[in-house]
Amino acid sequence: MRIEAFQKQIEAIYYTRDAERGVPLTFTWFVEEVGELAKEIRKQPQDMQRLREEFADVFAWLATLASLLGISLEDAAQIYAEGCPKCNDTPCDC
Ligand SMILES: [Zn+2]
Repeated sequence: MRIEAFQKQIEAIYYTRDAERGVPLTFTWFVEEVGELAKEIRKQPQDMQRLREEFADVFAWLATLASLLGISLEDAAQIYAEGCPKCNDTPCDC
């Protein structure tokens, strides 16, 4: 699924509820999900299925925040299309 399609899918599922909640509270949910990803990363042995799910959750919350703020993640990702945005090299040479 492309980034734009993913963001639209997350909008279809959650946008109304997330818009009612608002950006500040939605941001705290995003941070909570990042914390869950951190816990999953630290777990030994790693559960790849749980790790995958936590990455999906963080990406979904990031996408919904972008939607609430009128940002296209597909467009934002273009900033890295030509390499490092500062030095334009791949790999980065900063
Ligand atoms: Zn660089």
